[in-house]
Amino acid sequence: MRFAARFLILYGSQHGQAQSIAEEICQQAAEHGFTADISCLSNQHKYNVDHEIRPVVFVVSTTGDGDPPDTAQKFVRKIKNKSLAHDHFSHLRYALLALGDTNYANFCNGGKTIDSRLQQLGAKHFYATGHADDGTGLEVVVDPWIEGLWDALKKMFSSMSSNQQGADLRDCTQDNYHKNASGQEKNKSDLEVDLHLLKLSEVDSQKGKTITSDSSDVETLFTALVASLKQSVPPLSESVLNVPALPASYLEVHLEQGSTERETVPSDKDCYHEVSISKAVQCTQDDAVKTAILLELDISEQNIAYQPGDAFDILCPNRASEVEELLLRLDLQTQKNCAVQVNLLKNSSKKAAKVPLHIPQNGSLQFILTWCLEIRSAPKKAFVRALADFTQNGSEKRRLLELCSKEGSADYNSFVRDANVCLLDLLRAFPSCLPPLSLLFEHLPKLQPRAYSAASSSLQHPGKVNFVFNVVEFPARPEHPARTGLCTGWLADHVSSILRPLGTVPASEHLGTSALPKVSTIAITHYTFHLPADLSIPVVMVGPGTGVAPFIGFLEQREKEREANQEATFGETWLFFGCRHKDKDFLFREELERFAHNGTLSHLIVCFSRDEPDAAGTVNSPTYVQHNLRLHAKNVASILLKDKGCLYVCGDGKNMAKDVNDTLLEIIGNKLQIDILDAMKIVAGLREEKRYLQDIWS
Ligand code: NAP
Repeated sequence: MRFAARFLILYGSQHGQAQSIAEEICQQAAEHGFTADISCLSNQHKYNVDHEIRPVVFVVSTTGDGDPPDTAQKFVRKIKNKSLAHDHFSHLRYALLALGDTNYANFCNGGKTIDSRLQQLGAKHFYATGHADDGTGLEVVVDPWIEGLWDALKKMFSSMSSNQQGADLRDCTQDNYHKNASGQEKNKSDLEVDLHLLKLSEVDSQKGKTITSDSSDVETLFTALVASLKQSVPPLSESVLNVPALPASYLEVHLEQGSTERETVPSDKDCYHEVSISKAVQCTQDDAVKTAILLELDISEQNIAYQPGDAFDILCPNRASEVEELLLRLDLQTQKNCAVQVNLLKNSSKKAAKVPLHIPQNGSLQFILTWCLEIRSAPKKAFVRALADFTQNGSEKRRLLELCSKEGSADYNSFVRDANVCLLDLLRAFPSCLPPLSLLFEHLPKLQPRAYSAASSSLQHPGKVNFVFNVVEFPARPEHPARTGLCTGWLADHVSSILRPLGTVPASEHLGTSALPKVSTIAITHYTFHLPADLSIPVVMVGPGTGVAPFIGFLEQREKEREANQEATFGETWLFFGCRHKDKDFLFREELERFAHNGTLSHLIVCFSRDEPDAAGTVNSPTYVQHNLRLHAKNVASILLKDKGCLYVCGDGKNMAKDVNDTLLEIIGNKLQIDILDAMKIVAGLREEKRYLQDIWS
């Protein structure tokens, strides 16, 4: 190869996934004979795509309502500049891996936005774009995509060397993906499978179909995992047992007795603030299906600005009991206060490997397991494969190998990924597995903060922000007792001393502020999920359950604006809310009734999914918000199609948001007497105009 085979990786990451995939590509590059440079898209001084002659590999995630991640916003603005010539990027050869989640609308839109704009301005693919779906497991697309990348790069570099003026790269766009890493043509069925994987998420998102499997019966799935161990597992085929070994470990970890460095909660953003939780209110009755808690944070001293619709990231630690159990299980309990030093192994085959940045040098082992690593995450297949190498018992080892084999994909998905099984669960189920600490540091992802929508307006609560959450509960299983969600469970425990039921005196009136629990938080601006600046624009809000949170902020803001602008014309405000029982989980009932009473809300439409219809009620009384939307179809259609109003949806993304979307298509189709495809175009137009906005969670 006459050319230095050097390429550039640019990533746009929101929560670190795109970054870690980009780093993985960077690490593997050396093993394939390439030199890779890597940069975050936000570091614009480190690269210049306007004059880039190296091939570029983009890895871009999607956030919010199909937006590029915050770190890619500036880059997107730059390439969207209307003054750029149509051939501005004609020199650029690139490949792009887009990350998304089919549980949300606008699947992979962050990557697609960059991809289509680069194409428009003359850039060319040297390898087909990958669309990876977090809803079904990113690795399903990411792994084969990376595998095919090396061949695509080789082909491109060799065409460059045979034509220094720049080969016509048009031929090597799609077909490189269809070869395996050794350059052999794959057979037709392999090609079909690969193409299927690559397209699957996109096709399904277009159809609006839910493709996540049902993870409701976690207990059964996990029991099956353990049961499958106890049963005599039928002999596996050669191919299963021949799951290729991973490259050898690349980290070495030393534990030293003695002083550890000052341990602060790690964060790549410097601007996390430690704030007091000044109020904690249980918003549901004790016998409600879920427990919802409202927290008020005192942000007066930190001067944090936010708008209704913004969210707050909360940093929370792993559970002390789980960290203790992990230490015990790894035989490291007596060393938990040791200072940890992590280095790259000198003879590692992973030439470009790096010590993960989220593991601080000289932090104590207990601190690192508590604050830096996502120990509750479902172990990825590569981790399971590595664990198998440290498993003594033959049948346990075989089962682990099976789970990470190609043939075991369905089992892996149902027993591990969809069942929310974590490392500790696997270690319980596979008692002879004893991995070294270095393996955990290589494979456990960074502990991520959790985001919660503001449920207040600073106009109404100066110096304060509220948010509301359900305490997530996972039922007991043979391998572990019942447990709560990591952050929601931690928050609930953390505020137990000040938690009060609705309608009683705030605890903060009795306690000094120094006695209040504290939390580390940071405001995150949602670029679009805000009320229209023009007060006369009508809005329709759909937010069942805790999905009502941002709308409380919206309505508090409108209430204050009405007080301050008595002469102004205000557009209609509709809220569709739903909960299970009127008397148990009608969140913010008092506030909503006040808004309806004083005109802030023109229409408060509520349904109760599990209450018996009252004596006057009809059998078909609305159960869910979309049923009420249908009942008010005429008004909803008129607000959206005639009055140029906005529709906001917040809450569950797996079912509710999809059903509401289907109802919207039906309403528009009926109103305009058009078929579903044309209705979809209109809805896409509403999204494009930022008049149909979603803040949904899976
Ligand atoms: P939820 O589970 O969505 O339940 C609220 C109501 O919606 C219940 O009456 C439920 O009825 C009903 N429902 C169930 N399936 C539905 C469907 N397909 N279409 C319409 N309604 C349906 O409410 P939640 O427990 O409060 O959870 C709300 C969601 O919002 C969660 O996914 C949560 O992660 C997310 N969330 C968002 C924020 C935020 O800050 N933006 C905050 C917290 C939570 P049945 O149960 O009787 O079927």
